[in-house]
Amino acid sequence: MINVSHLTKKYNRYKANDNLTFTVSDGETAVLAGPNGAGKSTAIKCISGLLRFEGEIEICGYNNKSIEAKRILGYVPEIPAPFELLTVWEHMEFIARAYRLNDWQERAEMLMKRFELADKRDKLGKELSKGMQQKISICCALLINPKAVLFDEPLVGLDPHAIKELKHMLGEMKAEGTTIIISTHMLESVEDIWDKVFIMMNGRIEAERTRKQVEETGENLGELFFRITEKNGEESE
Ligand code: ADP
Repeated sequence: MINVSHLTKKYNRYKANDNLTFTVSDGETAVLAGPNGAGKSTAIKCISGLLRFEGEIEICGYNNKSIEAKRILGYVPEIPAPFELLTVWEHMEFIARAYRLNDWQERAEMLMKRFELADKRDKLGKELSKGMQQKISICCALLINPKAVLFDEPLVGLDPHAIKELKHMLGEMKAEGTTIIISTHMLESVEDIWDKVFIMMNGRIEAERTRKQVEETGENLGELFFRITEKNGEESE
């Protein structure tokens, strides 16, 4: 479970996140949607523990800055940043050592195979294409078998096979009870996997809906998104 309570993040005096409160339960996949600059990445970075903020964030009951939370939280950043001089396999090994994982090799092999990195295992980070860098980033985040995982625009730069594989993995993780937050503006790409959506604008959550609520209206995610983000001057919900 991810519990965000009164999250405010200011860059100098500018509020990039303004008093966000929301919960994503075990086994739930939440989409953080919103136009560029809405504050999605900032919220994800605060949850991941990379930024200082006001408010409280808990990962499965642990304060997000605690070691217990870090052990169970996976994070795929918007811009992959592999180590230039580590090979693909050494990235896996680095994460395994940092997290003190036991018996990780088989899972690493499985992830690399599924994301078509197995034949790139000896390639250096700097030799990889943007898409391959993104795949390493995903494999590193999933190697720890996280109980909660954050994806910031995970599909940008991935080839169709990797997109399909990632969606499969998201389905498997959901079935295992993993809490998933995906920030994206490619709404059609998450149409078949989302349970809950938070539509952000100007640092605030403008609308929160469950899948059931949206389906009852006969809208799809994209239609809801445009209706919420294009209404000007009306009261927020
Ligand atoms: P999104 O992910 O929804 O596109 P961001 O969280 O990246 O939005 O950005 C939200 C707002 O915060 C934007 O106005 C952006 O310019 C601003 N911002 C993001 N990062 C920084 C930073 N490091 N310093 C100052 N302003 C920032």
